[in-house]
Amino acid sequence: MKKTMSEKLTANFIRHIINNDMTNGKIPNGIVTRFPPEPNGFLHIGHAKSMCLNFGLSSEFSGHCNLRFDDTNPEKENKEYVAAIKEDVSWLGFNAEDKCFHASDYFGQLHDFAIELISNSKAYVDSQSAEEIRLSRGTLTKAGTASPFRERTVEENLFLFEQMQEGKLPEGSHVLRALIDMDSPNINMRDPTLYRIRQSVHHRTGEKWCIYPMYDFTHCISDALEGVTHSLCTLEFEDHRPLYEWVLENITINVIPKQIEFARLDLSYTLTSKRKLLELVDGNHVSGWDDPRLPTLKGMRKRGYPPEAIRDFCERIGVTKKQATIDMTVLENCVREELDRTSRRAMAVLRPVKIVLENFPEDKIEWIEVPNHPKDPSLGKRKIPLSRTLYIEHDDFMEVPPKKFFRLSVGSEVRLRYAYGISCKQVIKDKQGNIIELRCTYDPGTGGGKTSDGRKIKGIIHWVSASQGVPVIVNLLDRLFNVEEPWSSENFTDNINEQSLDVCTTAIAEPLLAQSATSDVFQFERLGYFCREKTELNSEIIFNRTATLRDTWAKMSKS
Ligand code: ATP
Ligand code: MG
Repeated sequence: MKKTMSEKLTANFIRHIINNDMTNGKIPNGIVTRFPPEPNGFLHIGHAKSMCLNFGLSSEFSGHCNLRFDDTNPEKENKEYVAAIKEDVSWLGFNAEDKCFHASDYFGQLHDFAIELISNSKAYVDSQSAEEIRLSRGTLTKAGTASPFRERTVEENLFLFEQMQEGKLPEGSHVLRALIDMDSPNINMRDPTLYRIRQSVHHRTGEKWCIYPMYDFTHCISDALEGVTHSLCTLEFEDHRPLYEWVLENITINVIPKQIEFARLDLSYTLTSKRKLLELVDGNHVSGWDDPRLPTLKGMRKRGYPPEAIRDFCERIGVTKKQATIDMTVLENCVREELDRTSRRAMAVLRPVKIVLENFPEDKIEWIEVPNHPKDPSLGKRKIPLSRTLYIEHDDFMEVPPKKFFRLSVGSEVRLRYAYGISCKQVIKDKQGNIIELRCTYDPGTGGGKTSDGRKIKGIIHWVSASQGVPVIVNLLDRLFNVEEPWSSENFTDNINEQSLDVCTTAIAEPLLAQSATSDVFQFERLGYFCREKTELNSEIIFNRTATLRDTWAKMSKS
């Protein structure tokens, strides 16, 4: 896969571990990793980090990475999420088809392993309620207390487990627990639950199962069945590692994958928790899972973030064991760098003011050939129309200009990008005193970067022909939150940035933009990067601002 960043690789302690394992001959058959999303929501930038790590490292070391749906909770999961996740995985640039598995593929084998544990007196059916189990588990400072059902015989346990499976016992009445150690300092080892009863329909196995395995039991066995060599997960699973290993050591299975934990990605000014993202969607704070202000892959895609930029970001932030918040600017800069390199240039005026070039013939249209990219000729050229009436940005004119204002004012001269120098002769206002038109003249001798008499014109402004321009709607998107760590306040929705979506309905763009396709990204000169949104045929043209040209937040927090 093409790397957009410098070839120098950032700190990644897992790369070192794998490298060592490879050189020590510990992995004769090559490395196998997996990316295990639960199909209960859409993927976000945190998952992108995990994908880049799992798919990235496995391909770097000529191994492979499985996409495995961790689908053990029928109530929250569905087929739509599975399809959406696959689409996102492949959009990010990874293979979602060849090695695609589901934890539910292993329900039969998991059941057999549970029987093996019961037969070896390593698991028992507990008839306490969930609440009783929770209370008897103890605390960090207090040991747990044994269940009164802990001493059940193997036969009794096998019988009850079968009854659970056959749907003869109600939900919540029994669970299967591992028989480990109620005094363990690690609460996860105090007889954790392995199976619970759920009389629900699973999106893949239908009504076949009335019992569903817990994550801690499912995950390690799925890893082992797939021959995973390195099972990479986030830090919160560190305390689960002894259980991961206990399960595999106590059943008949060959492979024991190595679980390695790394710090999850927290990104400033946004959220990387599916639950909180769901709250934003359900509370109508955003337009849906693909709202371009969300850090979901669907949202970032709609916003115009290229997958290359997201992969580049994941490489740059590195992989460590220390939890730290990554600054949003890092992601935004990766996006800018990639788009600067790849996006075609175009001109659009967001808040137009009309100018009339008095010495430009009434009906004339001059088509000026310009490059689509200042550095990359392979992106081609296009022709833009110049006419007597044009629009320029309202902000590019000032009646009473401050010093060093190099744009347009009465009596001053400015250059139209790719075209001529113009000077303003007169300002026309309406009754309320609003500027409605600027009367200007142009200097035909200023083509090709020169003026007829060699004078200097400092400022260059963008413009659009009034007769040829097309109206566009531009969503000026900004960060969704105005605090750095929105997740740390309980009412996180209180910190939503009310200005995160500013719909600009006055914009006019050069005619080419009417022919652009959904998802095309352009740099609107001097304004930023903008991505065409999918709309119905013949309806309005909508662009989302992907990024500003520079980091405006840094400037704001300084002032
Ligand atoms: P959430 O907390 O958003 O619900 P999750 O861990 O429950 O996330 P899964 O679908 O189970 O969501 O995640 C799939 C994989 O992605 C897991 O291996 C998980 O560790 C990893 N992952 C999830 N969030 C992040 C994150 N913020 N940074 C890095 N990896 C993450
Ligand atoms: Mg999870």
